[in-house]
Amino acid sequence: MYLGVKNILQLTVKLQKLSKKRRAELAATVFDRLRSEIGTQTTELQHINPYELLVATILSAQCTDERVNLVTPALFEKFPTVMEMSTASADDIFPFIRSISFPNNKAKNLAKMARQVVKNFDGRIPRTVKELESLAGAGHKTAQVVAGVAFGEPTLAVDTHVFRVANRIGLTRHARTPQAVESQLKSLAPPEEWTDIHHLLIFHGRYHCTARSPGCDTCVINNVCDYARRLTRLPKDRSGLDASRGRFFCATRGHYFDEADSVSDRYGTDQISCPRCGSMNIFRSSSGRTTRRIKDYRV
Ligand code: SF4
Repeated sequence: MYLGVKNILQLTVKLQKLSKKRRAELAATVFDRLRSEIGTQTTELQHINPYELLVATILSAQCTDERVNLVTPALFEKFPTVMEMSTASADDIFPFIRSISFPNNKAKNLAKMARQVVKNFDGRIPRTVKELESLAGAGHKTAQVVAGVAFGEPTLAVDTHVFRVANRIGLTRHARTPQAVESQLKSLAPPEEWTDIHHLLIFHGRYHCTARSPGCDTCVINNVCDYARRLTRLPKDRSGLDASRGRFFCATRGHYFDEADSVSDRYGTDQISCPRCGSMNIFRSSSGRTTRRIKDYRV
């Protein structure tokens, strides 16, 4: 029996609702457990007011918080307020931030940002994401961090950690951009929880679910996490392979070969495949380990 277009659309909507309901339940479990494990967190960028947080956040783009915290004490001693920074040139600022990434551009942006704050906002750091985004060097993520942390606005900034961890856990579906991750995460919790969720995912990503080696064995959410579940489904190591007969062993056809092909699996991840039959059920002869890789989400 064939389904009509209307029925297919209704079915699709139902499935989407179901998937969202499941993700909302998953999110509640994940955030509860991470809260118990990590506690209440805030940014690790040292600051005492919105001006300092804005400057530190601009400096932290593609740089670690640790490195930024090394340079900001001297920078804030020299330029303690936005008014003072507004009289500085990029050349005045550069020596204080030379050890962080992209110092030339960031020095220019800080000098311009301070002048914009004085000219457009009477010397007060603006509090909305839209206003903050109008400042030099302050992109969407920076604006959200400042609005959320300094002013308590409901924001959910997506950085590299939030993007990776949310996708690995399965809190998001087919979210390939930070904007998509942000909008899906926001739909899973009320606005008053967004900033907290941002910090929970950052801390979990920075110290436990790291880009290179996630600590799944000791993770408090490993029994609900998509990535961990797929890890357990990888083929077990094979013993007794003969590396002298070829670098790879095709377990589907039972033969060895040296030159592998590559195919994309249903998650879009490149996998080593058999040049004869195209199978992805391949093992390294020297270690007996599967060549299958799980889709990861590093940006
Ligand atoms: S189980 Fe592994 S992949 Fe999942 S959140 Fe924990 S550390 Fe990350």
